[in-house]
Amino acid sequence: VKKISIRFFVALIIGMSVIMSVNAQNQDSVQIRKFFEEEFNRGKSYPYLDYLCHDIGHRLSGSKQAEKAVQWTYQTMKNEGFDSVWLQEVKVPRWERGKKETAFIFDGDRKMPVKICALGGSIATSQNGIKAKVIEVNGIEELKKLDPEKVKGNIIFYNKQFDKQAMSAGHAYGGTVEQRSRGAIEASRLGAIGIVLRSLTHSLDTFPHTGAMNYNDSITKIPACAISTVHAEMLSTILKRNPDAKFYFQQNCKKFDDAISYNVIGEIKGSEKPDEIIIVGGHLDSWDLGQGAHDDGTGSVQCMEVLRLFKTCGIRPKRTIRTVLFMNEENGLRGGLKYAELSALNNEKHIAAIETDAGGFMPRFFGVSVDGKILDKISTWQPLLEPYGIQKITNGGGGADIGPLKKQGTVLIGFHPDSQRYFDYHHTDADTFDKVNKRELQFGVVTIAGLLYLLSEYGL
Ligand SMILES: [Zn+2]
Repeated sequence: VKKISIRFFVALIIGMSVIMSVNAQNQDSVQIRKFFEEEFNRGKSYPYLDYLCHDIGHRLSGSKQAEKAVQWTYQTMKNEGFDSVWLQEVKVPRWERGKKETAFIFDGDRKMPVKICALGGSIATSQNGIKAKVIEVNGIEELKKLDPEKVKGNIIFYNKQFDKQAMSAGHAYGGTVEQRSRGAIEASRLGAIGIVLRSLTHSLDTFPHTGAMNYNDSITKIPACAISTVHAEMLSTILKRNPDAKFYFQQNCKKFDDAISYNVIGEIKGSEKPDEIIIVGGHLDSWDLGQGAHDDGTGSVQCMEVLRLFKTCGIRPKRTIRTVLFMNEENGLRGGLKYAELSALNNEKHIAAIETDAGGFMPRFFGVSVDGKILDKISTWQPLLEPYGIQKITNGGGGADIGPLKKQGTVLIGFHPDSQRYFDYHHTDADTFDKVNKRELQFGVVTIAGLLYLLSEYGL
């Protein structure tokens, strides 16, 4: 009899805990459904993005539009009635493109105009531009094997392409981006007078893609531009037939003293563990082409919107949740660095940080910076997010702006929407509001709000 009753009680307890956890999951799915209903019926993410793209436009750090974006997001979050909204001062680099660039290929008697743009941070050419023979290389490794005598006085043409077979477009980007970031340094080391970079995209079109590039103070600075992929193909074809063809470009960019700008922060205090903070972040700055719609207007408005959903749906989080709109991700990361610096200084405890900076496309997965028990715990929430697009929660993730928090033990989580079209628009004139699909943007909001809710309920 005793044995039976022990077994009975064990079975009862197991049964009850299963029922309780099923109940909790049911309740969670009901809460997340509330976010979905609100977002798809009365959501503001799309109108927010409309304003950001059309009324403010692109917003490079230190520009008038960046300042306007700071004031508008601050005021908008204030109006939504979050517990606190504040600005965090950040010194940012300031660079301007100046008058539009021009470029030509000289092939014998023919002179053909091509589309280029200066890379972000590049120096100008002289008023008269530069004109020289072109050495095409398939990436930096190939450049390094060249005889400096051959490179001297010429222009290096980086033409390494995106891997066509990479499933993730982000991985293809990762395989080529060093040409942009270090290309001018390595070319100058061998005596080149300028670089022209094949735009970083799978797409074959006439939009040049800008993006950050670096100099080394001990190596001569040379001007750097990106050429559209259509014109990169053209240049490469001509060079095969006529290695003496020349490239000309002229650009007028300028660097100014650092400017004062801000991270914009909104917060809802936790009801049970207010000292445990979870942030969602995107970056408010953008490049100075297009409207910074997918990069990272969509991430910025998603972050504002998730806090609004908590408020509007009447959900008081157990832990503190915070939206951080970082300034200067594109050309300095000063916002992300400042935020982590002040967090350490103020002894704040960030248990998790979610970053959305991969476009406003259909949600696919979340990537988590840690393995083991914490990842296992977060992974058990995947079925709750699956109805809105999240197919898996995997190891490996984070983001540029939240990266500096890692030292403080914060678990970093990257939001990964579908990557296939992101680099069609990335850092170009084509990154505009009309490229964003409203429903995809909204599904992103719901999955991020859902994950934020689960983190705030259960902690890590
Ligand atoms: Zn971005």
